Amino acid sequence: MGPLENSVPTANRGGEEEHSTKTNSELPVNFIQDIIRADLKAGKNEGRVHTRFPPEPNGYLHIGHAKSICLNFGLAQANDGLCNLRFDDTNPSKEEVEFVDSIMEDVRWLGFDWEERLYYASDYFEQLYEWAVQLIKDGKAYVCDLTSEETRAYRGTLTEPGRESPYRNRSVEENLDLFERMKAGEFSEGSRVLRAKIDMASPNLNMRDPVLYRILKQPHHRTGDKWLIYPMYDYAHPLSDAMEAITHSICTLEFADHRPLYDWFIENVKTEFEPHQYEFARLNLNYTVMSKRKLRALVEQGYVKGWDDPRMPTISGLRRRGYTPEAIRDFCDRIGVAKRDSTVDIALLEYCIREDLNRRASRVMAVLQPLKVVIENYPEGQMEWLEIDNNPETPESGTRMIPFARELYIEQDDFMEDPPRKFFRLAPGKEVRLKGAYIIKCEEVIKNNETDEIIELRCTYDPDTKSGGSAAGRKVKGTLHWVSASHAVSAEVRLYGHLFSPENPDNDDDGRDFTQKLNPDSLSVISNCMLESGMEASVSGERFQFLRQGYFVVDPDTRPGALVFNRIVPLRDTWAKIQKKG
Ligand code: ATP
Ligand code: MG
Repeated sequence: MGPLENSVPTANRGGEEEHSTKTNSELPVNFIQDIIRADLKAGKNEGRVHTRFPPEPNGYLHIGHAKSICLNFGLAQANDGLCNLRFDDTNPSKEEVEFVDSIMEDVRWLGFDWEERLYYASDYFEQLYEWAVQLIKDGKAYVCDLTSEETRAYRGTLTEPGRESPYRNRSVEENLDLFERMKAGEFSEGSRVLRAKIDMASPNLNMRDPVLYRILKQPHHRTGDKWLIYPMYDYAHPLSDAMEAITHSICTLEFADHRPLYDWFIENVKTEFEPHQYEFARLNLNYTVMSKRKLRALVEQGYVKGWDDPRMPTISGLRRRGYTPEAIRDFCDRIGVAKRDSTVDIALLEYCIREDLNRRASRVMAVLQPLKVVIENYPEGQMEWLEIDNNPETPESGTRMIPFARELYIEQDDFMEDPPRKFFRLAPGKEVRLKGAYIIKCEEVIKNNETDEIIELRCTYDPDTKSGGSAAGRKVKGTLHWVSASHAVSAEVRLYGHLFSPENPDNDDDGRDFTQKLNPDSLSVISNCMLESGMEASVSGERFQFLRQGYFVVDPDTRPGALVFNRIVPLRDTWAKIQKKG
């Protein structure tokens, strides 16, 4: 299924009674909203809508998480409900405070607010423990001494039922005693676990006596060394939702098979509130990877500069790359919410930032690969200020003055000594217009005697062709961007390509690991770009359109006198083309 199938339609279903203060057209259009609408209509949950975003703090958030954030917070917002932020921090070995902080920053940056509802699964450790004790007392959980290999062997396969553990029928007293001693740290890691007593013959492997608790003698970032046993995610997650009275527990499709287990916990623990889980398709993007484990490997093994490397699909990477929260939210709207997995073209994400910045970013001239031009008939020492639009898309953005003088820079690519027929840029004897200035003609090409490299063009200008002037209408085919050499501001510019070369780097059919598929050209640095005067004042995070070159943002590496820009995207819209084709 193509991503557009679920793109945000403008139509609504009209006519239905709404319980929200929102009109139909303001409500999200997706199957979970349909469920919520039906639940509200049926008076379920006393009319409450309560969702949560439950990240595990074992890495930075990525664009896939943005989909989940927009969905959870978006549904709550649209239905006058609430959305919690809950850290599913049940695994002390992989979790760090740095990740907790970055996750909060990213959710806020995306424009969402959990208000005072910030929770941690670790806050529930005591309650979860008490419930485990209750399950033991009810004969529904037991301490198992099988090694992990034995447990795996006993588990069976998709086609064969599992075998019951020899420890399955321990007495309640023995189980209580052993579990208590696991908690007290009497046993070594891996020697015992607490398991639910469900059904070793269940066709659903998740139901074959899953582990509830394991021994881990590791400090936790919030509970310190208080606990020596930790609950498994599958046990803690649904019960945390129950404790927070989450009405719609939304998660990705791979957890559909876990739902019967979650329901079993909720039923057997007899929680006060019974949440329901709904699964949606996770976001996959081409030319990148989206698993935290893999992203973490890229960071730790030094393949990228950090979690916020502008090539990373992380929220912090996209932010540094220059993406706006508006563009990311727009992207999440357009991809929609489906029940079947698919891969979205990264060109759609690029389309969204172009759409946003087309209106918002000031347009300036910047020459990435400078070639010197001397206007022979423009007097030495003379200069003039020319008025130019900041953004023709939004006339209210006004105009600015740029200097024109005898020595200029144009783009090396905009000149060819021996051009093909349809080259409408500069060539010997040919004319072009300089944007916002004059028509110039190339009279002579100066080369380095030894290398034959073109080092300078000698041109003349036609003083009667000033842009906006009476004779400005004289037609030439090409218009080039340029800057005045003596006024130009130099900068480093970083251009980015896809992080991976193949479209699906996760596919390891060829036996190659994803790290072997990184695109060697994902970053190119140009160190001596020439920007129009005034750009020296730009500050980290400021975004511009460099005419004909794309959208750029000032990188935080910028220092006084040493500007660094990231290209967010080139101007060429590959998404519009894809849509036309297909
Ligand atoms: P990863 O597989 O990248 O490690 P995860 O599912 O382990 O991700 P969590 O921190 O558990 O990461 O995810 C928090 C929430 O974000 C979960 O509800 C999860 O379903 C959702 N989520 C994670 N990845 C995606 C994705 N690619 N698309 C949509 N939602 C996602
Ligand atoms: Mg997870």
